Amino acid sequence: MLPALLLVEDDPAIARTVVYALRREGFDVDHVLLVRDALHQLAERRPVYSAAILDIGLPDGSGLDLCRQIRRDGALPIVILSARGEEMDRVLGLELGADDYLVKPFSPRELCARIRSLLRRSEMRAQGQAPVTQALLECDREGSRIRLGAVWLKLTRREFGLLEALMRSPGKVWSRDALLGVAWGHDADSVDRTIDTHVKTLRAKLREVRLDLDLVVTHRGLGYSLDLDQAVGDRAGA
Ligand code: CA
Repeated sequence: MLPALLLVEDDPAIARTVVYALRREGFDVDHVLLVRDALHQLAERRPVYSAAILDIGLPDGSGLDLCRQIRRDGALPIVILSARGEEMDRVLGLELGADDYLVKPFSPRELCARIRSLLRRSEMRAQGQAPVTQALLECDREGSRIRLGAVWLKLTRREFGLLEALMRSPGKVWSRDALLGVAWGHDADSVDRTIDTHVKTLRAKLREVRLDLDLVVTHRGLGYSLDLDQAVGDRAGA
């Protein structure tokens, strides 16, 4: 059976291109224009869907509300489509549990690649397999330490918290706020810049061990993710 996707997009030109590209890539696509119709489709067919692609500005509501609702009901992977310049939408979307985002205008090919990567990750999670980066990176929670390859990293408590949080969902883009919350709770003295500082030192320590990998990816204005795919290539080539 073809993997089925739910596309919620009210712009006819974008929808046409996206539906065409996804179908050509072997996906089965249900396309709706309204929040109302998306909710109807989800009520009827949710178990069938492998992922949802949500535009944010919709005629009868917001894709962000839809995102919140979908996330509340379970683990369906979500990609949000946002307008250029609407950075707040992307931050909010990721905080509401979206897994990835694309900024319009985007190439349909890029969307297909993101969906494939998302489905691969969610499949690995469903099968309980550790994604390859997690094999490359191993977390010893009791010992509060993380191994990269054969080397146990010398991390501060903050750096450990950050990397441990990123390792929970490789590929997921974390906003600074979400990372702060997960990595070390909302300390009164933790400000936005704090994350950037610790990410910088964490990155340096990772690169000391593996100069060829850049595992922590910066999403400008949004936050950070742990890059799974380059490590897959790394393994394949090893
Ligand atoms: Ca729209």
